[in-house]
Amino acid sequence: MQKAIRASSLSFSYQKGRPVLEDIDFEVESGDFLGIVGPNGSGKTTLMRIILGLEKPDEGDVEVLGKGVSTFDAWDRIGYVPQKYEREQHFPATVEEVLELEKIPEEPDFGREDIIDMLDLESLLGDKFIELSGGQQQRVMVALALIKNPEILILDEPSVGVDIQAQEEFYEFLDRLNREHGVTVILISHDVGMISEHTDKVMLLNRSVCCQGETEELPELMEMAYDDEFKVFHHMGGHSH
Ligand code: ADP
Repeated sequence: MQKAIRASSLSFSYQKGRPVLEDIDFEVESGDFLGIVGPNGSGKTTLMRIILGLEKPDEGDVEVLGKGVSTFDAWDRIGYVPQKYEREQHFPATVEEVLELEKIPEEPDFGREDIIDMLDLESLLGDKFIELSGGQQQRVMVALALIKNPEILILDEPSVGVDIQAQEEFYEFLDRLNREHGVTVILISHDVGMISEHTDKVMLLNRSVCCQGETEELPELMEMAYDDEFKVFHHMGGHSH
């Protein structure tokens, strides 16, 4: 089966600084729901940016949907919701305008109605994007990523600043997208509780890959990371729920 993503021996540093990523190996199978967990500054965002071709690794290779990232040219097959986006760029558009709804194809699998329905956006369509709450804006950004009907959806800390109830619904939505529509989901989070509840596989990252495996093994993996002196994971585990 074709891998969604394959990275081997990746290393990266910004300018001449200390390496941010060292000797990273990992694979994502099509249909996976992978959580990437790690403390702030552990290189999670940088790793995603390399996979998306936004940064070039100093060493190593990345393949996206079976093709080398430098020659990959089907970026509409990938949806990306970055942690930080320019809210102002949508000023003062309504949600409907931001989404440019007429561009969403009406397909039987998941088209315009499904996206709006799944993300509960119907009542917000006429509202100004910048006046929405953080969680509502996040849902619009996810909708925007889904418009292209991507095979892989990458989300970077999607629930920061979103209340718990809205988070639960959002993660349930991601579960459905993965299970019912076969979308490969890669979720970056520092929320170990959410990761353990919703993903199938996990990778613990702290400049290098501490360990990876099935999510049900997460407690043991965190213990291993702790034994490897990645004490910060133990600390993070203590805050999971
Ligand atoms: P995470 O997503 O896990 O919080 P990042 O990938 O954002 O980690 O950052 C990893 C490290 O790289 C951090 O030390 C951060 O300060 C540094 N960094 C991130 N972006 C840049 C940049 N554009 N230039 C220089 N250093 C950066």
